[in-house]
Amino acid sequence: MKLKAIIAGAAVAMGVYACTTKTEAPEKEFNYVNDRFADIEVLRYKVPGFEELSLNQKQLIYYLNEAALWGRDILWDQNCKYNLPIRYMLEDVYNNYSGDREADKEYKAFETYLKQVWFANGIHHHYSTDKFVPGFSREFLEGELAKLPADARWRSMQDELLEVIFNPEIYAKSVNQAEGQDLILTSANNMYEGVTQKEVEDFYAAMKNPADSTPVSYGLNARVTKDADGNVVEQVYRLGGYYNDAIAHIVENLEKAMQFAENEVQRNTIAKLIEYYRSGDLRTFDDYSITWVTDTASQVDFINGFIESYGDPLGMTGSWESIVNFKNIPASHRTEVLSSEAQWFENNSPVDPRFRKDSVKGVSAKVITAAILAGDAYPSTPIGINLPNANWIRAAHGSKSVTIENITQAYDEASHGNGFNEEFVIDQPTRELLDKYLFITDNLHTDLHECLGHGSGKLLPGVDPDALKAHGSTLEETRADLFALYYLGDPKMVELGLLDNPEAYKAEYYKYILNGMMTQLMRIEPGKDVEEAHMRNRKLIAEWVYENGKVDNVIEIVKRDGKTYIKINDYEKLRGLFGQLLGEIQRIKSTGDYAAGAALVEKYAVKVDPELHKEVLDRYSHLNIAPYRGFVNPVYSLVTDKDGNVVDVAVEYTEDYIPQMLRYGKDYNGLK
Ligand code: ZN
Repeated sequence: MKLKAIIAGAAVAMGVYACTTKTEAPEKEFNYVNDRFADIEVLRYKVPGFEELSLNQKQLIYYLNEAALWGRDILWDQNCKYNLPIRYMLEDVYNNYSGDREADKEYKAFETYLKQVWFANGIHHHYSTDKFVPGFSREFLEGELAKLPADARWRSMQDELLEVIFNPEIYAKSVNQAEGQDLILTSANNMYEGVTQKEVEDFYAAMKNPADSTPVSYGLNARVTKDADGNVVEQVYRLGGYYNDAIAHIVENLEKAMQFAENEVQRNTIAKLIEYYRSGDLRTFDDYSITWVTDTASQVDFINGFIESYGDPLGMTGSWESIVNFKNIPASHRTEVLSSEAQWFENNSPVDPRFRKDSVKGVSAKVITAAILAGDAYPSTPIGINLPNANWIRAAHGSKSVTIENITQAYDEASHGNGFNEEFVIDQPTRELLDKYLFITDNLHTDLHECLGHGSGKLLPGVDPDALKAHGSTLEETRADLFALYYLGDPKMVELGLLDNPEAYKAEYYKYILNGMMTQLMRIEPGKDVEEAHMRNRKLIAEWVYENGKVDNVIEIVKRDGKTYIKINDYEKLRGLFGQLLGEIQRIKSTGDYAAGAALVEKYAVKVDPELHKEVLDRYSHLNIAPYRGFVNPVYSLVTDKDGNVVDVAVEYTEDYIPQMLRYGKDYNGLK
């Protein structure tokens, strides 16, 4: 599971937090903002501490990075089968264009479209999953295509690709979650082909054994289609199978990385991953996940594979992703304190004791520094991750949870002075509260969400982990967020030395409600519903506590000069409401109460008040804050001496967005 940044653009000051490593003076020359187009801002991030790693660790990271970058085109193809040929075609046009790149309006719109496609790893928006609408004409593109070689690799598909780009009726959405429709037939992603939702559900239902207490993650690494005889079959992502060519490059680099493993456990972990890529056997993936989750000694770590299932409307198939990282040892003190108290948190959580875990195992949490972001984690990236996703592995072996602090730091640095707080926060004292405590409480919220929230609670025996179906992701994120919110306001935080002020939590509470009820709407187009799981979860929580706190006037909606503001009158009661809702969501999850879960989502999480929505968009439009942000990666290179021996790995922050995208497309073209 992953956590995305909550407010794109909240201006928050540096925390006063003792355990973070933010003590160095900020380097003024480092330019965090790299590009801005459509609804996107592209940032850079730093990799502090890389230089201090050993040569061995640096080389390990180097090859894990290569393995990460080689998976890029798998994700593109998973998102939609037309994504890669369209990208090849658009990049050829980009490279060949000979007109005036500044003055030609059609070209400008084309460039924006290409930047959007790059950012989304395909022709559908990374967040809304709606197909992009080109701002240039079909005639312009056809004119440019005519100038390109007759044997260009996309040429045979040209008409089909143009139709996919310009006809809004076809492949309109990559992931459709609308209740009551065939989610597979109406989703443009490429995880299924020529099968209906019913056929897929029957196919996996026949495979599942309800008595299996250690089930594999069915469908995680496979495309589902029909064979020549019309039988539903899986095409497994593996060496020698689907995506062979890209996987071969991944495996080759994992083998190189293995030589630089920090210890035996890590070597075995990489070996298991390679074995899994060779066989495609999901049992081996579980073995790998168990080895991976038990490796807490290594400083360098990585995610590499088919992991999160947000890209599949049925929540089964994993989108390919990779993040290579290393532990930020001083900052990890914070999460280690939380982990060591995991049982206390579990025992005191405001849920029915039947749904608590008797013993919370191995919640391992750390603060990390990302070295590379790839696949589904690039350019839009999570700020926190908790893995593995298999419930039984989490219960038996624990999970690993991370907060990616060089990413949250880049968000924070890039947000200073953008005017958000002045526009949306109700008064000066609240703004001061946010300035002082939002950075630390935001990070702590992520820590709590990832290292305790997702790991807490248990299913009653016999409850199907997929019982909440299409609402599973939303309700799971709701549960983890509520756990984090509830405990952020607990005196335990001060007692553990994680916050230095018992009022600090109010900063996060204020921002959470403001975001859930109002400001996150800036990411939604007028007339559209809220669809993405994390956004739904935030709306569900904020709207529910607002409504259920009305009797005590806990949260007030204040109108001033035609503008809407959120005022929180009683933070303690608000905390109580978070706890109450957590109890209910945990009950829904533990008992698999689909109807109750669906009712909450439908009532609070989906529908947008059009008037408020319009107001939020208006107010945002004056601020020039991008609703979405993502990152360019640093560039790593091996430094050799005159005899060709590797003596160092250099990291540079010089590559811009367009050159990086073009280089990745050329150098890591895994499925050509
Ligand atoms: Zn989460």
